[in-house]
Amino acid sequence: MNFLSFIRKILILGLIGALPTSSFAIEVADLNRTWVSSGGAIDQQAADQIIRIFEDDAETNELIRDVAGKLGASNPAQIMQIVGLCDEEDESEGQFVRRIQTNWRALPTDDTEGEWDKETQEQLARAIETVYSRDESAEYALSLQSVSICVQPNRPLLDTFLTFVHELAHFRGFDLLSDKVDVLDFPDEQSFVEYELYRPGGEYDAHVAEMKAHKRLKKRSKVTKRYQLERYFDAEGHVINRTGLANYILDGRDYRTSFRNRFAKTVVSQYNNAANLHNWYVNHAQRLKFDKIRITRTLAEFGGDVNDPNFEKTKMVLERIEKRLVVLERQKLAQKLRMSAIDEKFGQYFAK
Ligand SMILES: [Zn+2]
Repeated sequence: MNFLSFIRKILILGLIGALPTSSFAIEVADLNRTWVSSGGAIDQQAADQIIRIFEDDAETNELIRDVAGKLGASNPAQIMQIVGLCDEEDESEGQFVRRIQTNWRALPTDDTEGEWDKETQEQLARAIETVYSRDESAEYALSLQSVSICVQPNRPLLDTFLTFVHELAHFRGFDLLSDKVDVLDFPDEQSFVEYELYRPGGEYDAHVAEMKAHKRLKKRSKVTKRYQLERYFDAEGHVINRTGLANYILDGRDYRTSFRNRFAKTVVSQYNNAANLHNWYVNHAQRLKFDKIRITRTLAEFGGDVNDPNFEKTKMVLERIEKRLVVLERQKLAQKLRMSAIDEKFGQYFAK
């Protein structure tokens, strides 16, 4: 640390020390009051109310700052831009919705990612996370993630705050890259259920964050409301019964069913993806084989005149095609094997 930054640090620490200790006291009456009624809107005052409770506690303050960082927002209050009210028909208290759009694109011939079309540029601007992945198929995937959160209207501020913590914990933990699962990595459905439960930003994380925030809020306010979930935590908000909590989430809140359904859907979609890729390689190889015939014919027309400058060029094109065909054969086989492996292991998920 150089001298100047040392001085700066002292100045900053001095300033923080000089700040009055939080003058914000959480009133139980406020926590019990409805946050936003149905038909109402999340106005500035409503937003401030929630943000203040977040900022009043070190852990939830860190949570909201992490999420703001993920959104690229300079101010935690900007999180409200992705928040709306849920449909009252919804059974859940809140929802964290991720939209992941994956486009397969032909690899530009000059091998640059340069110019995106207008539509893609607009999608990129809205995306929270972007992932490019490239494979040998002369195409690459562009995945874009955008997110939104909704909370139910007509709920007390306390419940809404906890729903926020829950949904933001989901958001904080998810990341597009770690989100890619391969069904073949799972020995069975049960291991997928456990993976979904305990993954970063999964339901276990979100439930723990929610109840921890509640326990910490209880310690600094006079709130007495008890939730069923509380019995799995001590007064500090640490989990005291991991299995009990896991079973409560899976069976008490019926996440087991949705994880099972997700597994079945993933099995089918990954099988279909392999089949689509396989077909793509087959068609691509077919086109290249026609090219090969055409170019071989052109080469023959040179009549063995190796001094013709076009002869060398044409020969090189032919060699490239032949190499590519070898790769395509390998890719075709890999997808074929993947299809039969999925079918053999999880064939029971396909509608017969
Ligand atoms: Zn959740």
